[in-house]
Amino acid sequence: DVGAMADELGFKCYLVGGVVRDILLRKTNEDIDIVVEGSAPEFAKSFADRHGARAAVHAKFKTAVVIFPDGFRVDFATSRTEYYHFPASAPMVEDASIKNDLFRRDFSINAMAVKLNKREFGTLLDFFGGQRDLQDKKIRVLHSLSFVDDPSRALRAVRFAVRFDFMIGPHTDRLFRHAVNLDLFERVQGQRMFLELKYILSEKNYKKALRMMRKYDLLKFFHKDLRLDERKEAQFDSLEMILDWYRFQFDEEPELYIARMAVLFSDLEKSAVKDILERFQLDEHKTLEHSECFKQVKDSLAWLKRSKKMPNSVFTRHMSRMATPCALAVSALVGEIFEKQVKDYFSVYRYVKPDIGGNDLLAMKIEPKTEYSNLLSAVKDAKIDGKCTDRESQLRFVAELALK
Ligand code: ATP
Repeated sequence: DVGAMADELGFKCYLVGGVVRDILLRKTNEDIDIVVEGSAPEFAKSFADRHGARAAVHAKFKTAVVIFPDGFRVDFATSRTEYYHFPASAPMVEDASIKNDLFRRDFSINAMAVKLNKREFGTLLDFFGGQRDLQDKKIRVLHSLSFVDDPSRALRAVRFAVRFDFMIGPHTDRLFRHAVNLDLFERVQGQRMFLELKYILSEKNYKKALRMMRKYDLLKFFHKDLRLDERKEAQFDSLEMILDWYRFQFDEEPELYIARMAVLFSDLEKSAVKDILERFQLDEHKTLEHSECFKQVKDSLAWLKRSKKMPNSVFTRHMSRMATPCALAVSALVGEIFEKQVKDYFSVYRYVKPDIGGNDLLAMKIEPKTEYSNLLSAVKDAKIDGKCTDRESQLRFVAELALK
């Protein structure tokens, strides 16, 4: 009923971009993008009101997102070329606005639209051969300056090529290589670089995408020392094995891209990782989260490799300081000697708690109380190492400790 409302408000509405592509590919896509010829914020507000949803408006960009109570979101954007430049008289001119909007998009397969207004509901607009390219399995830009306008499209090309197992069209391939030679990537905003790498690393076939980035010499735009060699690929294979195991055991998906990024960056010097994060210009919180993770992975690896063998409690203390994706990256990188300990850590040790608590220590009149948390940690360690597994033995253990 977007169409009905569009008719009422006198706007034209189109379903655009990735969702149209995915409908044609018979794939699911939950990201609904709608272009409004008129005012997307006004449309979104009316649409939200009618459906008991909330509209968040971005007045400057004339966009809005409607959020339904169950969390489902629909994005609305105002057609990039102003509607009033094209009075709705001749049908040819009528489509000029959406055509212009679509022409500014990245690839032909992403530049199709479906009309939503009632009268022509469902009509596919494909001005640039998107359907043909879907059939031919081709990623193709819409014009020769596409990568110059926005070099980040090169990373998007890699992502879509790998996701759908498409080829980069021959002309697009030449433009792509040209863009790399022109060093245009300095111009791409840091956050965009980060997001595109994050999306690539979230793809199932990210290894192939990284290989393609190597082929096109794109890795250097993240850092000159960034490499993808056989050893790195083997590390990714180990990571995927441990991730599969983790998913199967806990029916839970850890944040994949962080684990994969940590592996990708694991051979870089700390200063290089710092440069990369500076370049990404993430907000303070995200920068800290990522730099902590990458640093921990490096330090942890060095330490584990030096230590070789250690009690389960020491291993657990060490691993539990890290967020799950970072701990998984370490597990993948550290090799087989720790395999059993890693698995035991995730399935058992990280959940271990002492069977006694502060109340027991109070009842035993142990002083000072500021030591309670240390004492209970020591009990937990002892339990993990199988030294005292029931309440009675833990009470005895803690009494002895307190005496010392
Ligand atoms: P995904 O399935 O990964 O979400 P998507 O095609 O929906 O892919 P988005 O990044 O959500 O990708 O972008 C939505 C649409 O916006 C694209 O289909 C494309 O038409 C357009 N678009 C996005 N980024 C660019 C860009 N850098 N240059 C031109 N058009 C873009």
